[in-house]
Amino acid sequence: MAQYEWDLFVVGGGSGGVRAARFAAQRGARVALVESGRMGGTCVNVGCIPKKLYSYAAHYAEAFEESRGFGWQLPGAPALDWEALKSARAKEISRLNGIYEGLMTGAKVERLSGHGRLVDAHAVEVAAPAAGTTRHTARHILIATGGKPFVPDFPGRELVVTSDDMFDLPVFPRRLVVVGGGYIGCEMASIFHGLGAEVSLVYRGEQILRGFDDEVREFTAAQMRQHGVDIRLNTDIERVEAQGSARRVHLKGGTTLEADVVLYATGRVPHVEGLGLSALGVRTGWNGAIQVDDNFATSVPGVYALGDVVGRLELTPVALAEAMALVDHLFGPAPGATPRRMDYDNIPTAVFTHPPIGTVGLTEARARECHGAIRVYRSDFKPLRHTLSGSAERTLVKLIVDDASDAVVGLHMVGPDAGEIVQGFAVAVRCGLTKAQFDATIGIHPTSAEEFVTLRQVTRT
Ligand code: NDP
Repeated sequence: MAQYEWDLFVVGGGSGGVRAARFAAQRGARVALVESGRMGGTCVNVGCIPKKLYSYAAHYAEAFEESRGFGWQLPGAPALDWEALKSARAKEISRLNGIYEGLMTGAKVERLSGHGRLVDAHAVEVAAPAAGTTRHTARHILIATGGKPFVPDFPGRELVVTSDDMFDLPVFPRRLVVVGGGYIGCEMASIFHGLGAEVSLVYRGEQILRGFDDEVREFTAAQMRQHGVDIRLNTDIERVEAQGSARRVHLKGGTTLEADVVLYATGRVPHVEGLGLSALGVRTGWNGAIQVDDNFATSVPGVYALGDVVGRLELTPVALAEAMALVDHLFGPAPGATPRRMDYDNIPTAVFTHPPIGTVGLTEARARECHGAIRVYRSDFKPLRHTLSGSAERTLVKLIVDDASDAVVGLHMVGPDAGEIVQGFAVAVRCGLTKAQFDATIGIHPTSAEEFVTLRQVTRT
């Protein structure tokens, strides 16, 4: 049998790569990981974590405003210190980068810096600016290089920014135009509006957040608009031009928008450049996503891929779960445990719009397709806090039940802490609990979450 330097060589130090490297090493494998940038990948550096920190920052604006209804008197108008927020974020992200480095050291994973390129099914070349090029052999190679923002071609493309740039903008944008109605577009629109920008969100389709439950989409758009985000549907950008340091955005149909920053949030593509995939014969899809089987094996034996670079569900917890399933497959499960398999059903997710969305299971439309007869229970209401806060924001809760089995097959919420609340209910939906079991659960009063166990009236079938 061939002798390799490593049992597993991981290319990419993001959520999936780090988790695979660490767990493989814990099973006794000899593991190396190469990363060209800072450890932690998109999630830690320019994704989930800084986004959530900025979302917290943005929520203070509402809190200051609403606190008056509860008797607080603020000495003056609160103002955001953008530089202070950026530097607090940068400090926290550096701390996390260090923790990720520490995880590698602690697990005895060899951490290499540089750009990794596959030169055959069992060898990776690492090019490092200072150290030159080194060659490493491995029994298994894992590609976990993630994704990067996609920006379509149009006149003025060089004048726009992507989510990678948003956290460190040199000057806070007084006016922001966001293009794209997906997760990133909607979150950034809400966050920067909360931080004090005038925000227009331009989306080419009928309603933002395609793929989510239609009622959730409508409700979220209405709440965002009520907060002051200018959502423009059924329109697209024709061109962007510079007006000094500002931008003029020409929409199809002749309307123009003035902005300090134009953010394109038009999806992400797998990060596969310079990996040597085509020379090696690693099969990729139309957008570059690496094609893998149920065990994350690519078309080249010995080479595996997971996370955003395979583009199944671009979510950190999905990459983590995929990594643990791969480690079980390659090196066996932890002592006494059964091998984990990846199951893509009932994966909960949140969109950190203001108010946020939490969702698990099927949309109403999909439930009708899958189950035929369904019962929909929904309620929208003014949360207790807003009886005094002065805010007109409402909360939506919605259950979709398969009529034949009584199982809750879809659960959706738009409202404060929706992500926190739906995470808990996701366990129930995953376990196939019935509406009768939801009804038998006593609520926690007074909360918004109790609505999920007190919905008695069928809204529609
Ligand atoms: P999404 O795929 O969610 O949204 C992309 C948006 O851009 C859609 O509205 C899409 O329109 C639009 N679009 C695509 N191409 C064009 C084009 N050529 N011109 C105009 N509009 C276009 O991608 P995001 O970049 O928002 O996010 C990427 C992924 O990252 C998400 O799918 C999600 O998995 C993950 N993510 C998760 C988060 C979370 O868990 N909270 C937060 C942020 C990201 P259309 O709908 O018509 O195709």
